[in-house]
Amino acid sequence: MSVLEETKFLMKKYHITANKNLGQNFLIDDEAVDTIVSSAQINTNDLVIEIGPGLGTLTARLLEKAGKVIAIELDDKMITILEERFQFYDNFELIHQDVLKIDLKQKIEENKANTSSVKIVANLPYYITTPIIMKLLEEHLPIESITVMVQKEVADRLTAIPGKKNTGAITYCVSYYCEAQEVLLVPNTSFIPSPEVNSEVIQLKVRKEPPVVVKNEAFFFKIIHASFMQRRKTLLNGLANNGIASKEILKKMLQDLQLDENTRGETLNLNEFAKISDYLTNQ
Ligand code: SAM
Repeated sequence: MSVLEETKFLMKKYHITANKNLGQNFLIDDEAVDTIVSSAQINTNDLVIEIGPGLGTLTARLLEKAGKVIAIELDDKMITILEERFQFYDNFELIHQDVLKIDLKQKIEENKANTSSVKIVANLPYYITTPIIMKLLEEHLPIESITVMVQKEVADRLTAIPGKKNTGAITYCVSYYCEAQEVLLVPNTSFIPSPEVNSEVIQLKVRKEPPVVVKNEAFFFKIIHASFMQRRKTLLNGLANNGIASKEILKKMLQDLQLDENTRGETLNLNEFAKISDYLTNQ
């Protein structure tokens, strides 16, 4: 059965209409499903955490490959389907909760005995893509990779190169923790219902060590966020307006680091932000 037939069958059987508030766009494209699963390179010792399994389209393929799949779903209706659909799988655990509220570190710890590596795989609910990615990265989870479908525009931001086009504060966060790559463009017609925009599968491979060393990681990210809060402003004004340091100190810093007074945050790379962060940590 194709993914389209499977989706139509399940939606009819369980009287499902997609809930837009929960970002429900069900994937009906066999190539996209196969590419997500194959690019995640799952083996029988892996723990796969799937966020938003929905009707279980990806879940069914992940269960064939992984040692264990933990699927986290918020919607009661999907839970009923998933419980029934995968009731005979002993490598399946379903968590009925908001992914943003789960202690994932604890979950991974509970399963570590039989796990060689942990991989996140998902067609993410678009309305909370950024908070989910931030949670996965900032909690320093022992995960190897994140293979996810996101909106094309968000994919561009997540995989952008710091200092170049299409960046946001999250670009720096992703670059600090991961190596990011684009995997597959997926048109909006590959979903039911069809969203307004196209999507893309991306993969973030979590680095063992960050590419730059900073004295204070939290402060480093605070500076990056502050400089992106008012994108049009210069770095000097952005940091001053957000209470990072006085204009006097910031002007001296720009001089000492040989940066132009009109430098904007979005033109800086990770290394330059690291230097700024370390400089101001000493003030
Ligand atoms: N994996 C399915 C697929 O590819 O067809 C569904 C993907 S759909 C884009 C996103 C899924 O995330 C939906 O099933 C939705 O109910 C679920 N979801 C939305 N918000 C969530 C949250 N805060 N925590 C967990 N799941 C959530």
